[in-house]
Amino acid sequence: MDYILEMKDIYYAYHNMEGETKALEHISFAIKEGEFIAIVGPSGCGKSTLLHLIAGLLEPEKGLIKLNGRYLRDSSTSIGYMLQKDELLEWRTVYHNVLLGLEIQHMMTAKAKAKARELLGAYGLEHFADSKPSELSGGMRQRAALIRTLVLEPDILLLDEPFSALDYQTRLNVGDDIGQIIRKEKKTAILVTHDLSEAISLADRILVLSDRPATIRQTVNIVFETPHLTPLERRNAPEFKNYFNLIWKELNPDE
Ligand code: ADP
Repeated sequence: MDYILEMKDIYYAYHNMEGETKALEHISFAIKEGEFIAIVGPSGCGKSTLLHLIAGLLEPEKGLIKLNGRYLRDSSTSIGYMLQKDELLEWRTVYHNVLLGLEIQHMMTAKAKAKARELLGAYGLEHFADSKPSELSGGMRQRAALIRTLVLEPDILLLDEPFSALDYQTRLNVGDDIGQIIRKEKKTAILVTHDLSEAISLADRILVLSDRPATIRQTVNIVFETPHLTPLERRNAPEFKNYFNLIWKELNPDE
């Protein structure tokens, strides 16, 4: 079986003057290309640390990480990162924000620019290409941030609480919107969220982490009888509540 990402028995601890903070222990999982994985767990358990390790921003103290069968440091697999804040630059137009990553990585080719225009068009931002980010709604800003990541054609998309700065109603719509774009672009994605409903509405599989140091308590495959439901449709499907109750119990064993 070929995996785009393999994590084997990962251990990571932060070290500072006060001592050691164990963040992750015995973390093992593997992901196939095109899968959408969500990681849920209590606040402070180590979810962002896990994404930092996959992005190569931190190195595991024990265990190994492979991307497309090669050790992370030797790998050419590209990783895209989308954060809670959209980090759009207010003095640049939407189009020039979308090109920012290409500029930084010296990848500004005519083909890449055409791809940026194409994605802006495909996802309803063509009329805002010359606008400043302040003229966009929260949802449109998040869409622009996703397009900025997608033009770099990442093999794996890491999403760290990307909707949590939005109010509840916007969050539902933006989650639906972004989820559908990621499916259409057939991206492999790993979403970190504390919002269980969000995870169930978006993912093929959910990893439930324990309190810090995080271990994987449970892995839940999310399967709906009706295939290809949108995230909003999933929320109204009969299986949704069952998954919610199952994982809620796992996250709150004392209740
Ligand atoms: P989550 O994303 O699940 O909220 P994090 O991965 O951000 O959790 O953090 C896991 C634990 O590691 C937390 O207890 C946090 O306080 C600690 N931590 C995070 N970054 C650092 C750091 N740079 N130095 C020391 N401890 C850290």
